[in-house]
Amino acid sequence: MWSEDDTVLISALEHFSYCPRQCALIQVERIFDENVFTLRGRRAHERADEPLLTTRENDVRIERALPLWSDALGLLGKADVVEFHDDGRIVPVEYKHGPRRERRHDDLQVCAQALCLEEMLGKTIAAGAVYSIQTRRRRDVPLDDELRQATRDAIVAVRALNNDAGPLPPAVNDKRCPKCSLLDACVPATVVAARHDRLAANLFAPVPTEELS
Ligand code: SF4
Repeated sequence: MWSEDDTVLISALEHFSYCPRQCALIQVERIFDENVFTLRGRRAHERADEPLLTTRENDVRIERALPLWSDALGLLGKADVVEFHDDGRIVPVEYKHGPRRERRHDDLQVCAQALCLEEMLGKTIAAGAVYSIQTRRRRDVPLDDELRQATRDAIVAVRALNNDAGPLPPAVNDKRCPKCSLLDACVPATVVAARHDRLAANLFAPVPTEELS
């Protein structure tokens, strides 16, 4: 059994993929700020979590807000939607609301959901999907070996981060920051400037005279 500290939340994989510092601020420092993107995302998830948990559309049974776990991987979370097709296919679908961004973050999350479902149901899942509330478009996510390994690697990395008592990962201070809900808490420009100041101070520090002789 995994301890609480060693159990990784599926949602943390997305945060880690976006920015390891963001993941550490949420998981380790327990800081979470809402911004317009997270509020819209929460609304999207609330819709997927609406009370009618099981429905049927033609040849697909749809389960919403399905709890997920993997004892093998120490993973825990919830799927927005899982489709059970009459032809045997099982497809986890992650609902997203927000600006277009790198697909990798969402793909890791969908893959982690699929890994849980495979263990829970004893079935192989070939693909998941990401549904954009904004564009009403759906994108298939093939679960190839590379994505599965990247997901497993991310789980290990998040677990290490959760148990790391050292300093937070460095601020990325790039185009990700303006869209980040933790911008105020993180203050990436200040952190990066302070790091540069420290490096400069070390670089130009006077050399002790005994080292010159
Ligand atoms: S503000 Fe930037 S560096 Fe800080 S957590 Fe967000 S993305 Fe990462």
